[in-house]
Amino acid sequence: MTHWDAVVVGAGPAGSATALLLARAGAHVLLLDRARFPRDKPCSEYLSPESTRILGRLGGGVAEAVEAAAPARLHGMKVVAPSGAAMVGRFGERFSYALPRTTFDTILRRAAERAGAVVREGVKVEDLLYQRRAVEGVVTREAGSGKRETCRARVVVGADGLRSLVARRLGFVRTSPPRRVAFAAHVADVAGVVDLGEMHVGRNGYVGLGPIGDGVTTVALVLPLRAVRRHGPPRLFEALDRFPGLAGRFDPGRLVRPVLATGPFAQWSRRPVADGGGALLVGDAADFFDPFTGQGIYSALRGAELAAACLMSGAPLRTYARARRREFAGKWLLERLIALGVGWPALVERAVARLARRPDLADLLVSATGNCVPARAVLRPGVLTRLLW
Ligand SMILES: Cc1cc2nc3c(=O)[nH]c(=O)nc-3n(C[C@H](O)[C@H](O)[C@H](O)COP(=O)(O)OP(=O)(O)OC[C@H]3O[C@@H](n4cnc5c(N)ncnc54)[C@H](O)[C@@H]3O)c2cc1C
Repeated sequence: MTHWDAVVVGAGPAGSATALLLARAGAHVLLLDRARFPRDKPCSEYLSPESTRILGRLGGGVAEAVEAAAPARLHGMKVVAPSGAAMVGRFGERFSYALPRTTFDTILRRAAERAGAVVREGVKVEDLLYQRRAVEGVVTREAGSGKRETCRARVVVGADGLRSLVARRLGFVRTSPPRRVAFAAHVADVAGVVDLGEMHVGRNGYVGLGPIGDGVTTVALVLPLRAVRRHGPPRLFEALDRFPGLAGRFDPGRLVRPVLATGPFAQWSRRPVADGGGALLVGDAADFFDPFTGQGIYSALRGAELAAACLMSGAPLRTYARARRREFAGKWLLERLIALGVGWPALVERAVARLARRPDLADLLVSATGNCVPARAVLRPGVLTRLLW
C-alpha cells in the first residue's frame, strides 16, 4: 500500500489543477475520478476572463492546449428580461474562452498527469479513513471489478463537485433557497449567436447560452426545483421558445448532444477544511450557489491555487479557509444577490432597463461577474443604488 502526500478526489477543474500544482512542486499525488475521460459535465462552458490568467499561471501547456482547441471567444454578456428588453455589458479589453467541458477538463487532467500525478479513472471514493479525529485517507471501489482499496495520504483533497462525498462525510453540507435544477444541451446553427454570452430571464427560470466553437451553442435551461417536481422535466425546445429573446432561434433537429440534467444547487460546505485536519475541499465541493454568474470554473481554479499554496507551504489548513474568505467573500455576496434577484422578474426588468441606459454600469457589473474587477467595485452602496434607481 502506497502512502501518498495527497489523494485528490475528482479530476474536474478543481481537482486536476490542485493535483497539477502539487505534483509539480514534487508531491506524491494520486488523482482519482469515478468517470473515465473525456467525460461530459452539464455546464454553460464559459471560462470567465480572469480564468485565462490562471490557465497561463498553471503552465504545463494548458493555455496553449485550450487555444489550440479553437474555443469561442466571448467579449461580454447580454441579459434579456422577461419582457424581451435587453442590456449588454462588455469585458473591456478582456475576453473569455468558451469550449466543451469534454475538451477542457481532459486538457487539465492530462496536464496533471504530465506534471507527475498518478491518475486513476473509473475509481469511486466511497468513504474516508480516520486516525483519531484526523482524516488519513479514502476507501475506493473500482468500477467493473468492484475491487475495494484503501489509500492513505497526508491530506485528502475533496474536489468531487456538487454532490461531494468528501463534504458529506465531513458533515459540512448546507443547502439554501433558491433551489434550482438545470438542463443543458449542445445545439448546432442557433440563429443570432454572436461573441456574447446570453442570459434570458423568464417568469419561471432562466436560460444561459453561448457559442463554444465549431458552430455549436451550449444552452442551459435553469428552473426552480419545485416547478420540475410539479410538472416533470421540461420539453427543452418548447420551454426555450417561451422566452421572447429565444423564440424561433433553435432547430430541434440540430441537437448534437443529449440533454444533461443536474442540480439542485445552492449547496455549500460549512467549512472548507476538516475539523481534525487531513482534508480540505475545493471547487463545487466547497460551495456552489447558482450558475447565473458563470464563476464556477474560475472559483475551482483559483481555489486550487489557494489550496496548493497552503499545502506546499506546510501552513495549517485553516490558513486555506482564511485565504478563501479573503478571496471569495465579495464574489459570494455578489453571486447570491444576483441569483436571488433573478427570481424576481419585476426587479430584473428594472435593472435591465436601467443598465441599458447606463453602459458604463453594465460594463462594470459584467466585468465584476467575469472577475475582471473586484466584486466590491459593484457592492458599494452608491453603485447598487444606481443599478436600480
Ligand atoms: C447549468 C450549469 C451551468 C454552468 N455554467 C458555468 C459556466 O458557464 N462557467 C463556469 O465557470 N461555471 C459554470 N458552471 C459551474 C461549473 O460547472 C462548476 O463550478 C465546475 O464544474 C466545478 O468544477 P469542480 O472541479 O469543482 O467539479 P466538477 O467539474 O463537477 O468535477 C468533479 C469530479 O469529481 C468526480 N467525482 C464525483 N464524486 C466522486 C467520487 N465519489 N469518487 C471519485 N470521483 C468523483 C466527478 O466524476 C467529476 O469528474 C455551471 C454549472 C451548471 C450546473
